[in-house]
Amino acid sequence: MELMRGVVDPELGSNLVELGMARGAQVSGDGEVRIEIALTTSGCPLRAQIQRDVKARLESLPGVTKVRIVWAELTAEEKTAAMAKARFNVSQRAPDTAIPPTTKVLMVASGKGGVGKSTVTTNLAAALAEEGFKVGVMDADIWGYSVPRMLGVDGDLRSLEGKIVPISRTVGEGRLDVVSMGFLVDREDSALMWRGLMLNRAVQHFCEDVRWNDDLDYLLIDMPPGTGDVQMGLAKMLPRAEMIIVTTPTVAAQKVAARVADMGRKNYLRVVGVVENMSYLVTPDGEHQAVFGAGGGEALASEIGAPLLGCIPLDPAVAEGSDLGEPAVLGSGVAAKELKSVALALSEEHVPPVEMAGCSARMLDAAVAALDALDALDALDALDALDTEDDEDNEDDEA
Ligand code: ADP
Repeated sequence: MELMRGVVDPELGSNLVELGMARGAQVSGDGEVRIEIALTTSGCPLRAQIQRDVKARLESLPGVTKVRIVWAELTAEEKTAAMAKARFNVSQRAPDTAIPPTTKVLMVASGKGGVGKSTVTTNLAAALAEEGFKVGVMDADIWGYSVPRMLGVDGDLRSLEGKIVPISRTVGEGRLDVVSMGFLVDREDSALMWRGLMLNRAVQHFCEDVRWNDDLDYLLIDMPPGTGDVQMGLAKMLPRAEMIIVTTPTVAAQKVAARVADMGRKNYLRVVGVVENMSYLVTPDGEHQAVFGAGGGEALASEIGAPLLGCIPLDPAVAEGSDLGEPAVLGSGVAAKELKSVALALSEEHVPPVEMAGCSARMLDAAVAALDALDALDALDALDALDTEDDEDNEDDEA
């Protein structure tokens, strides 16, 4: 059930548990999970999207062998309660965070520093933007922030109506929106002698008080290395986030990286997969030289039961691109090819939001109007009437 707190109804902007839509999870001895998901209406156009998200999250739990979703429909009373919750969130303008409900949130984490976590974050962000996506990048690596330089974005963060406005840059058809501690301090080498609590506050601001654009497809978070307070805080603040774990081929790195996966799981985050970086060097005669050993990524992936998304070679173009603010993935080097294929795998996982002439949004509007104008009883009648209309629509569709 905790995993279901990570699945957000994109229209209502709240998670399935909060809305009372996920219920009765049962786990059988052979690892089959059965869960009931009640939709606002059985013909909900978001059903496929919710189904995929529910399955992906449950299947990521070690020991789960099969997921069976039993579909149901909320009763009129339950619908009213769900709408009231959604309405409350809208009125507070503070769902869990200020991140749009349709945005896929990916935390890029690593067991230790220097394995290329920021490099992978920035290159995946640039690759997705080049594909035409709108990509937010949150640099939560407060001590070691390097995202602004790596993405070639600079400037001072502005605030608008009390919210931080990210600094944007277009890439191909897409866009990068970046927030980083680097925009708040003058010099990149300024020593940030911040204490844990203050760091947590800074990260919380980045989660809650950034004016992310509504059209954001992805939000990539460059996490600080390891499993400290900031990481735990972020995992708790963003139950809908999914994790990508970056490691190197060195088997010694595997143990610390596994701890990160463990932290994610303890907070019910789904691990999307592992990226092995600095995997090999391509010699002038085309051979793959395993500079840092071999097998770390594969071993980690199998240990934590997540796929190995890709192996990125050592490539001078990567370091150079990061220094120049032009991520190497936008070029055509050996690492670019592998980074692009990881980005592609991510975008294939992401179901784009459906066009919503939708169920719940329409019902929410109707319920809000009804509640404003009528007493609660009349509002229930209005919902019932809509229900019948919906059924008729479905019949029309089927015909
Ligand atoms: P982290 O965020 O894990 O601390 P960085 O992304 O800052 O690590 O990378 C550390 C250094 O290694 C940087 O100088 C970066 O340019 C370099 N680097 C990372 N990945 C590669 C790669 N595949 N090929 C060449 N250099 C790399």
